[in-house]
Order: sequence, then C-alpha cells, then structure tokens
Amino acid sequence: MSSSRNIVIIGGGVSGLSAAYYLSKSGIRATLIEAQPSLGGTIRTEGIDGCTVEGGPDSFLAAKPWALDLIRDLGLEDQVIGSRDSLRRTLIWKGERLVPFPDGMQLMVPTRIGPVLSSRLLSARTKWRMGMDFFRRPRTYPDRSVSEFIGDHFGQEAVDYIAEPLLAGVYGGDPAELSAPSVLPKFVEYESKYGSLSRGVIENLKRSEGPIFQTLKGGLGQWIDALRGKLGPASIIQGRAETVEPGRVRVNGEWLTADQTILACGANVSASLLTGELSHVLRAIPYSSAVIVALGFRRGEFQHPSKGFGFLVPKRERKHLMACTWVGNKFPFRAPDDMTLLRCFFGGDPVESDEQLVAWAVEESGTILGLRAQPVFSRVNRWPNSMPQYTVGHASRMAELQQELRGRPDLHLIGNAYSGIGLPDCVRLAKQTAESIIASPDSPGASS
Ligand SMILES: Cc1cc2nc3c(=O)[nH]c(=O)nc-3n(C[C@H](O)[C@H](O)[C@H](O)COP(=O)(O)OP(=O)(O)OC[C@H]3O[C@@H](n4cnc5c(N)ncnc54)[C@H](O)[C@@H]3O)c2cc1C
Repeated sequence: MSSSRNIVIIGGGVSGLSAAYYLSKSGIRATLIEAQPSLGGTIRTEGIDGCTVEGGPDSFLAAKPWALDLIRDLGLEDQVIGSRDSLRRTLIWKGERLVPFPDGMQLMVPTRIGPVLSSRLLSARTKWRMGMDFFRRPRTYPDRSVSEFIGDHFGQEAVDYIAEPLLAGVYGGDPAELSAPSVLPKFVEYESKYGSLSRGVIENLKRSEGPIFQTLKGGLGQWIDALRGKLGPASIIQGRAETVEPGRVRVNGEWLTADQTILACGANVSASLLTGELSHVLRAIPYSSAVIVALGFRRGEFQHPSKGFGFLVPKRERKHLMACTWVGNKFPFRAPDDMTLLRCFFGGDPVESDEQLVAWAVEESGTILGLRAQPVFSRVNRWPNSMPQYTVGHASRMAELQQELRGRPDLHLIGNAYSGIGLPDCVRLAKQTAESIIASPDSPGASS
C-alpha cells in the first residue's frame, strides 16, 4: 500500500531514518533527503586495526526504552551488548592526580554519605553542604541555570568538579548557561517535592537489572545499515534541502511536492530553511561543537591499569582534553586483546589541524595516565554545531515553537534539539511524529 500524499523527510540521521522506517511499516513511503553521501548523521562507525571506532555517539541509555525497541523491531536484538558495569568507575583529574568519583552518586547527587565523607574529590565544606541538603524544605524556583541549581544545593566545588565535567561530556555545554529544569528535570522535580535532591533520588531509586548503557556488537553503524536496509533505495535522495515552503521543498534547485515535511536536520539548519517567527525561534536554540579523537595503542606499550570507564577533566584543570574513555573497559567487542582504544573528547570547533588535535590527545592523556606510548592509529571526527544546548529559557522557547507549529500542520520537527538530547529520545520523537502522520485523516494507515 502506498500513500497518495508526498511526505518529505529532511535529514538522514537516526531521527529521519527512524521516522521513515515507522512510516514505511504502515505502508507510507516517504522521500528522505540527505545532504551527505552517507546516512547516519552523527553516527559514524569505522573498523580500524581490529577495533570498532565510534566517531560520534558510542551507546545509548538503557533506561530509556525507545532505541532498544526499534533495534528489536529491526531484528538486531542478538547484536545488542551492554556496558561492563562491574568496571564502571569514573575518575576526575584534580590537582595533578586522578581522583575517583564517590560511589553511589546519581550524576551529581549523592545517595550514600559514607563514600562522600571518604572522597578525596571534595573538601570538608562540600561534604557538609551535601549532608545539610537532606534537611532542605521543598521549594520551586523559576528557570535557573545548572550552576545556580547545583551551587545552591551543594556549593561551587560541586559545580566545578562534578556538574561541569559531567555535563561537558554529555552536552558539550556550560552549566552556567544550561537550564536546570530542561537538563535535569527529575532533580528539579525532587527539589520542589522533597527539598533535598538526595532524598528525592533515594526515594525514587529503581533497582535496574540490566546495564546502564547499550550498543551493538558491530557499533551503532549496524543500526543505521539495518534502517537503510528497510527503506527502498528509491525513497532516499542525496541532496541538500535549500528552502521549505508550505506544500513544497527545494532540493538542489528543484522543487519537490511535500504535503507533509519532517525536519530532521537540526534546529539550526531548520531555521535556515524556514522563514518568519518559526525560523526566529529555532535560531534561538544555540549549538556547541565537539571533536572525538580515537587513539589505538598496542596493548604491550600501554602500561596503565586503566581501571574504570575513563576520566573527566574539569574546566578549572583543563588544557584542551575534556574527557577520555577506555573503550575496551566500557564495552566488549571494541578492541582486540592486543590493543587499547582511547576515545578522547574535546569541546568547541578548533581551527587547529587534525595532527595538532591528535598531538594534544596523546600528550594530555599521556600526562594524566603517566604514559609515553605512541598510538599505532588515530582518527579525528569533528562535529561542528552538532550539540543543541538547552539553555535557560529552553522550556519557554519550546512552548513558543509549539504555538508556531499550530499554524503549520504540514510541518514536523524531530531530532535532539527539543525534548531530549540522546539517541533514545530521537527515536521517541520520530516514532510519535510518524504515528501522528499515520493517524491523520487521509493517511492509508489511519483507522477511520
Ligand atoms: C560527539 C557526539 C557524541 C554523542 N554521544 C552520544 C552518545 O553516546 N549517546 C547518545 O544517546 N547520544 C549521543 N550524542 C547525541 C546523538 O548523536 C544525537 O542525539 C543523534 O545522533 C541526533 O540524530 P539526528 O538524526 O537527530 O541528527 P543528526 O545525526 O545530526 O542528523 C542530521 C542529518 O541531517 C543532514 N542534513 C543537515 N542539513 C541538511 C540539508 N539542508 N538537507 C539534507 N540533509 C541535511 C545531516 O547531513 C545529517 O545527516 C552524541 C552527539 C555527538 C555530536
């Protein structure tokens, strides 16, 4: 069964591909436009010297079910692997040494006082603040930054050595600008319900059976290949969308009819394709940039026990390197026995050459780990303007966006700029959008 309507999806990352897949399951064939020669967007998996190197995302949170649901649907369940949580430990670079993150932290909130008291990461004053948090009364605040929120509960040191490095590694963002209700909604809810963040986390702690992170044996690229395999080649066009107007989309200078348009190309690109107030609101969502440098070492030359998932470098201690993951510890099937694979994360969009970025990665990870080993391979993946920032005011911008979209029922925005930054949320939004199109009155999949 094919649709009489023309549905155009702009962007062939996981969001656009997921929307196309869910539509196709209901017999609705969409046309997907992708500017790059390959699909996947920020998902980029490469095999190098027996290692599986993720140039962009490396996994997804298991607690959010939508990515795994789709992967199962695609018949890839037997390829799913979990993080090695028995090895999970994060180290923080502080005062020229690696200090373990206290056990029992839920992101930046302590749930056990013992590990906090014995931690070398935190001063007596911060420990006292964390203890006193238990006695706070419930209160609601207007939208405020993560720095203000965490600083208010636990003090500035918790912002500098816990919140900042954790968020830099996920959002590539600055806690002084990120919005607490948009980035840490659960914690803000606990603040208004319990007062104490720790009490809120403890009372809502769910014992999860499985691993924290999941991915695929062959890397996330396997997921993209499976999605592409489910869509006919005729439904994918390589080209750059230039303008989106009601009823039509211009691609490489030619107009395509579009009864429905799904923008899956990021809020920043969507802003440039549209005009008017919609474009204006989308443009107000800022983006940050990141670079991932993979380094592969011969294991025999890499003389470090590397216990844990990796380390974070807080801004106060940082030269260039923000975070480093010991990939083989975090996931099986990533590096052969004779190799050690590091994933180094840098913020921003540096003008320096790839060689310089590799040199920084080798030098700074070498200093932190006390190593002189040289990698046998390196790979640089740059992601300019790829990480949307949920800054203070994000929730009101989303409300404005909803308001504007009411006047454009032919237009749908999906991706990570709106209601969730990670892969599972991208799939959730893509699926919801596909379902709303399927359920609309003239759809072949709609029940009358
Ligand atoms: C370095 C990095 C690490 C990350 N790590 C994780 C992680 O470990 N776990 C996690 O859950 N999330 C992670 N994320 C976030 C995750 O990668 C994204 O949420 C997700 O991949 C976004 O997918 P998308 O399809 O919405 O957008 P994208 O992947 O950005 O895809 C958008 C697509 O649109 C195309 N496009 C743009 N403009 C046009 C145009 N004019 N015409 C046609 N096509 C166009 C682009 O070429 C691209 O293919 C990470 C992100 C980055 C940058």
